[in-house]
Amino acid sequence: MNDCIFCKIVDGQIPANKVYEDENFVAFHDIHPKAKVHVLVIPKKHIPTFMDVQEEDLPLIGQLHQTIQKIANQLRIAENGFRVVNNCRDHGGQEVFHIHYHVLGGEKLPV
Ligand code: 5GP
Ligand code: ZN
Repeated sequence: MNDCIFCKIVDGQIPANKVYEDENFVAFHDIHPKAKVHVLVIPKKHIPTFMDVQEEDLPLIGQLHQTIQKIANQLRIAENGFRVVNNCRDHGGQEVFHIHYHVLGGEKLPV
């Protein structure tokens, strides 16, 4: 996974403005924010796309849901609400092939 930019962020080889980190996940500000708050939440495990999540990964994906709740509370966007987006593969507009969830908020988002 040497060429994966998000694995490099996990390993600290390239910098990121992190807002959260634990044993299994990292969250950091998107370099090109599309909302007042735009963070990317990723598992440290390299899973390329939404479609590559295996049955053995389901506990991790459940934890990811809980991690997003924690981050939303920490960033104070939970009460007013926010949006979670995963872009999957070509038609979904995925650019980085390490699964990530965009968390967008801090303002009323366009529909
Ligand atoms: P995708 O289109 O794959 O769902 O989204 C990839 C996101 O990663 C984009 O919103 C892009 O701005 C962000 N991104 C790409 N490279 C970097 C980087 O090196 N650092 C950070 N913080 N964000 C990045
Ligand atoms: Zn990766």
